[in-house]
Amino acid sequence: MTAGVPSANSLSLADFFIGETADPLTPPEGFSEWRRATTWATSIYEPALLGAPEPRCRLKVEGREHSVINLTSYNYLGLARHPHVIAAIQEAVALYGSGACGSPMLSGKSDLHFELETRLSEFLGREATLLFNSGFSGAMGCLAGLLRRGDAVFADAGAHVSLVDGAQLSRAKVEAFAHNDLVALDAALGRTPAHRKLVVVEGIYSMEGDTADLPGVCTIAERHGASVVVDEAHSTLACGTRGRGMCEAQAVEERVGLYYGTFSKAFAAIGGFASGRAETIDYLRCYAHSYGFSCALPPAPVAGLLAAHTIAAREPARRQQLADNAAYFRTRLRELGLDTGQSVSHVVPIIIGGSAVRLYECGHALLRRGLFLAPIDYPAVAQDRIRFRASITAAHSRADLDEALDIIRDVLVLGKREPR
Ligand code: PMP
Repeated sequence: MTAGVPSANSLSLADFFIGETADPLTPPEGFSEWRRATTWATSIYEPALLGAPEPRCRLKVEGREHSVINLTSYNYLGLARHPHVIAAIQEAVALYGSGACGSPMLSGKSDLHFELETRLSEFLGREATLLFNSGFSGAMGCLAGLLRRGDAVFADAGAHVSLVDGAQLSRAKVEAFAHNDLVALDAALGRTPAHRKLVVVEGIYSMEGDTADLPGVCTIAERHGASVVVDEAHSTLACGTRGRGMCEAQAVEERVGLYYGTFSKAFAAIGGFASGRAETIDYLRCYAHSYGFSCALPPAPVAGLLAAHTIAAREPARRQQLADNAAYFRTRLRELGLDTGQSVSHVVPIIIGGSAVRLYECGHALLRRGLFLAPIDYPAVAQDRIRFRASITAAHSRADLDEALDIIRDVLVLGKREPR
């Protein structure tokens, strides 16, 4: 560990993963000191939202309130406070109570849960669907439930940690191939002696905002006899003509064996789901532990999910607005000379380089000016590609985006920082 006062630049979470303390309940040496020394920086994380995650909201950070334009929310279609969604939740909570109060296998789930599973299967053109109580636990449970020792899983290096954790839990051999590198995927599949092989990619990558070349991935997987799972967390309802994600947009729905999605993004609630062949889903019902050994989603948000789906299906203009807003924002950022990587979507990174100190100084300066952007530090992304991430929604007005862009120009391009 480096001597002296640790700074946001000199150390990162990567330095404290392994420690030599005698007790697992005691963090590695220097961790708590580093956390204290960098509080000025990290106080930007976990702010208190004083209201709904809408385009404009109020936040409390270090006891101070800020009115901000919110570019951190996954409320992609602007449904978080839609009156029909709220009414459906209110009605259901009165009828079904506050929670499911048990595992779906033993205590059951409401008729609303079954209705949502059927609705999603029909929507996605799949035989069956299984709901999970969180996007993370569902992704982890699916991979851990399907893979076994001796299997091989090939996950894009940008794949979400929930997928990687699930793959590792399964004891299959986990290989990360370079992000969106089909040559690397092909080579890795060619090398493996494993009989059963699974390729794991995403519709839209959560840190980059780019997409996989899904036809390319499917062609390679088919050549090697591997199945494909696509995590459409950021693309379900948000992409594709009908909202069926990047699998629809890239016309590979029939070539993808398992479709995974979350309800925390365009659905604006909580939970996850897997859709696929009936026999795959039935196997998951029995072997995805995060399904069978965890409480079902509360019925009330499920009623809200049904309402959100109805609105998203009926109002494709929301998807168009989302795409237009995202394209406008990306274009304007690029005109400012900012690096938005390969983003083609409503997930827009603003890559600032290798200085964590600059990330946090700018993050606080943005907040003081009235803009809330997510700061993404190493090791969540590469050390030289630290960034802010903007999540654009259909609910942002042009005025919201223009004001946000002015603040970004002042702080990130012109270096204007009001004193703390
Ligand atoms: N998969 C992907 C690709 C994600 O980006 C996320 C979270 N952002 C998850 C799964 C986990 O979903 P949730 O936040 O709904 O638990």
